[in-house]
Amino acid sequence: MSKKVAVIGGGLGALGGAIRLACMGFDVQLFEKNEKLGGKTNEVVSGSYRFDTGPSLLTMDFVIDELFDFAGFKRSEMLEFVPVDPICRYFFPDGSIMDASADREKMIDEISKLSPEDADSYDEFISYCKDIYDLTADVFLYTPIHEMDKVLKKGNLSTLFKLYKMDPFRSVHQGVSRYFSDPRLIQLFDRYATYSGSDPFKAPATLNIICYVEYGLGGYYVKGGIYRLVEALINMAEELGVEIYTSTKVDEIIVENDFVSGVFADGERFDVDYVLCGADAVVTYNTLIKGYPVLKDKMNSLEPSLSGIVFLWGINKQNPELKHHNIIFSKDYQEEFRQIFDKCETPDDPTIYVSITSKADPEHASSGGENWFVLLNMPYITDDQDWSLEIDRMRKKVLTKLTKTGIDISNNIEFEKVYTPLDFLNLYNSNKGSIYGISSNSRMMAFKRHANRSRQIKGLYFAGGSVHPGGGIPLVLLSGKMAAELIGEDME
Ligand SMILES: Cc1cc2nc3c(=O)[nH]c(=O)nc-3n(C[C@H](O)[C@H](O)[C@H](O)COP(=O)(O)OP(=O)(O)OC[C@H]3O[C@@H](n4cnc5c(N)ncnc54)[C@H](O)[C@@H]3O)c2cc1C
Repeated sequence: MSKKVAVIGGGLGALGGAIRLACMGFDVQLFEKNEKLGGKTNEVVSGSYRFDTGPSLLTMDFVIDELFDFAGFKRSEMLEFVPVDPICRYFFPDGSIMDASADREKMIDEISKLSPEDADSYDEFISYCKDIYDLTADVFLYTPIHEMDKVLKKGNLSTLFKLYKMDPFRSVHQGVSRYFSDPRLIQLFDRYATYSGSDPFKAPATLNIICYVEYGLGGYYVKGGIYRLVEALINMAEELGVEIYTSTKVDEIIVENDFVSGVFADGERFDVDYVLCGADAVVTYNTLIKGYPVLKDKMNSLEPSLSGIVFLWGINKQNPELKHHNIIFSKDYQEEFRQIFDKCETPDDPTIYVSITSKADPEHASSGGENWFVLLNMPYITDDQDWSLEIDRMRKKVLTKLTKTGIDISNNIEFEKVYTPLDFLNLYNSNKGSIYGISSNSRMMAFKRHANRSRQIKGLYFAGGSVHPGGGIPLVLLSGKMAAELIGEDME
C-alpha cells in the first residue's frame, strides 16, 4: 500500500512538492484553507480588469521546466514564457529614466546614457555576480543545506573553502558600490536585495547573485498572467491523483513521541505517514504543533522579510511612458530602509513598483485602459501600526509622486483593491505579514532558515518561502523538490 502524505497549503512550494510526491507513488492529500490554490501567487478578476496580486516577474524558468519534465508534462504545451524587455523602466528622483535589459548591449547602452564612466563596469559587475551564482547555486539553492551528508557528498567541499568569494562580509550596497560610482546605478542594483525581502544596507553581498539571475538568466512573464502557472500545476496535480481539499484548514499536526502521525483538518483526523508543510514555518510551530517551546523560541527569533502594500488599480487611460514593469525610486533609499527595517515604520517616501500586464495582454484591462499592480515595500507587522490609516496616506503619496513624475492618474482609477500586511497575514497565514518569509539581513540567515526536514519531529518536512532556500517562485519550487526528495529517501 502507498505511504500517505498530507500536504499543508496550496502555495507553489507545497503544490510542486505534492506533484513530485504523487509521481513518486505516494498517496497525497493537499489541504488549503482558502477557496483557491496558489497562496500569494493569486489573481483578482473584476469586470474587465484582471490582476496578478503577488509575483509579477518570473526568473529561473528552467526550475519550472524541470518540474514539468519530472511529472511527464511538456511545459511549452501548457504555458508560454515571454522574455520581458526591458525588464524594468526605472524613474530616478532627478527626472532621469533608464530601461534595464537582460540584453547586454542594450544594458550597456542605457548605462552609458546615464553615467558613461560606469558603462565599462557592467561586464565586471555581472561577472562578479555570476561567480557568486556559479559558486553558491549548487550548495545554497539546489541542496538541502541542513543535510550535512548531502552538502559534503555533492563534492561541494571546495565551495565551502571558497566561501569568502561569495562576498559575505560586505553588504549588498557595499558590493554594488565597488563597481559603480553613479548613485542611481547603485540604487538600481541595490534594489535586488528586496527581492528576497531584505535590506541592501544589511544583507550580505552574496545576494548580488540575484542580479545575475535576472540579467544573466533573464526575466519572464507568463502569457495570460502569472496565475496561469498555478492553474497548470493544479491540472498536473489532479491528473496525477493528488486529492485536493480547498477551504479546508489544518488545525493541528499530530505529533506522538516525536513522530508525525496525522493532521486534524476542519475537525477531521487524517492519519498519514508524512506531513509536507507548505505553510509559513514560524506560524506552523506557533499554531499547529503542540509543545517544542525551544524550537518555537528559535523560530520566533528570526527576522521576517519585508511586507508590502499593494494597490490594484483599474485605470481608464493608457500610459505609454510606462513599460510592463516600472520603478519610481525614493530620494533617500537608505532612509527608506531605516524606516522599514530599523523603525518598523511605513516609509515617508516609498519606492513605487508598478506592473502592468495589459501591456502584454491588452484583454487584462478595459479597452483603452490599463491594469496596475502597485507594490510599496513596507515593514512587517508590529503592534504600533494602523494599516487602515496607512492606506489613504500611501495612496496620496503614490498619486502625488506619480504626478510629479509626469504620470497623472488621479482621476482615472475606476477600480481599486488594496492589500496591507494584515491581508498577507490573514489570507496566507504569513508570519507578521511578511511576503518573502525570513529576511536575509544577516550573514548566517541562509543557515538559520528552517530546514526542509525537521530534525526533532520525524516525518515532518517543509517547503515554501519561510524555509530553505527562501522566497520567490523558483526557490519555493526548489524547496518543494528538496522536501519531496527527502521524504522519498526516508521511505526507502
Ligand atoms: C506582492 C508580492 C510580490 C511578489 N513578487 C514576486 C516576484 O515578482 N517574483 C517572484 O519570484 N516572487 C515574488 N513574490 C514571492 C512569491 O510570491 C512567494 O515567495 C511564493 O509565492 C510563496 O510560495 P509558498 O510556497 O511559500 O506559499 P504561500 O504563497 O505562502 O502559500 C501558503 C499557503 O498555505 C495556506 N495555508 C497556511 N496555513 C494553512 C493551514 N493551517 N491549513 C491550510 N492551508 C494553510 C495559505 O492559505 C496559502 O495559500 C511576491 C510575493 C508577493 C506577496
